[in-house]
Amino acid sequence: METVVEGKARLLVPEIPKTVSSDMPVFYNPKMRVNRDLAVLGLQYLCRKLGEPLKVADPLSASGVRAIRFLLETDCVEKVYANDINPTAVEIMKKNFELNRIPPEKYEVYQMDANFFLRREWGFGFHYVDLDPFGTPVPFIESVALSMKRGGILSLTATDTAPLAGTYPKTCMRRYMARPLRNEFKHEVGIRILIKKVIELAAQYDIAMIPLFAYSHLHYFKLFFTKERGVKRVDELIEQIGYLQYCFECMNRKEVRELYEIKERCPHCGSKFRVAGPLWLGKLWDEEFTAFLHEEAHRREEIAKETRRILSLIKEESTLQTVGFYVLSKLAEKLKLPHQPPIRVAVKFYEGVRTHFVGDGFRTALPFEEVLKRTEELKKEVERYLASRREETPPQDSA
Ligand code: SAM
Repeated sequence: METVVEGKARLLVPEIPKTVSSDMPVFYNPKMRVNRDLAVLGLQYLCRKLGEPLKVADPLSASGVRAIRFLLETDCVEKVYANDINPTAVEIMKKNFELNRIPPEKYEVYQMDANFFLRREWGFGFHYVDLDPFGTPVPFIESVALSMKRGGILSLTATDTAPLAGTYPKTCMRRYMARPLRNEFKHEVGIRILIKKVIELAAQYDIAMIPLFAYSHLHYFKLFFTKERGVKRVDELIEQIGYLQYCFECMNRKEVRELYEIKERCPHCGSKFRVAGPLWLGKLWDEEFTAFLHEEAHRREEIAKETRRILSLIKEESTLQTVGFYVLSKLAEKLKLPHQPPIRVAVKFYEGVRTHFVGDGFRTALPFEEVLKRTEELKKEVERYLASRREETPPQDSA
């Protein structure tokens, strides 16, 4: 065993191997630090919003790291309910609560299947649930939605990004009943498919799970939802589920809300127009929630620098919420730019914003044809710039 420090928590965890895997006796992945920072910040948002003591569930808790950080780093938790099916995890978790001197009335520890744990008759609803499974969260979503209070928040992780992003399309179809898209914004498409699934699983109980925030990093997706009730709210969400068409030949893309709008051929170049979805076509970020996470992260010393950097990028990205984005290197390759300008130059050129999904990606509200036109203009500018550089540099003496 070793002791690690994360945020304000000290934790006893098994020796961390070079490659972290679910084979560890108790799972702890230091690379999920950003994910856990976000979970803490999301809970602090709810503290501010509701202004009352909150009941928090950590149904897949492992070492107890999240539950403990929630207690140490937010100011409104009445009690955390931490659970894991693994008896060794429960043992370590209890030690970790003691190690951090958490008063016993502030936590309860369970060793149950997460679905049973969530569906137990608690006599109250959880205000905040953090769901952090190995792989897909699908088997737990209905229980989570039912166990939450109205106005509560779900902090959700998914690590099955390979099916969602199109590496295993058949798995995506089975698990999410949606077609993925293996293109330059495949991770955004994956996130939109996952959101669709969460909305659809809750909708059958007239529960509206409204997306608040989305983030893709390393091997995982992180999402936040808030729960509301009522058929009107659910119907409004369902209206924002549709399809996305994409042309692999010319990069044309088009959102489709009704099935009859689907086209077989790309209207720009006539190639096959692929269909992804059904998926969520609405906003990925609630501006107020995103701004809060950003400000709060920058106020707190215990939040990792990487978390702050990502939140700065996402805050900018949330100002232009398009479906899909462009990747500069891909545009350069397809449209034969002789030299790729820096991303900050491109962002201005296309009146866009950067995206956290890909380093040289950007969002723009310009129509596709206008993006192509501007790329031709950009090409000329780059050619002019390269020619002026050649004139400035005298030829080398070959002798
Ligand atoms: N949340 C932890 C963290 O931030 O370090 C990591 C959680 S780990 C990815 C998933 C945990 O879920 C494991 O500890 C595993 O034992 C537990 N688990 C898997 N299936 C479960 C089930 N059906 N019910 C309860 N716990 C389960």
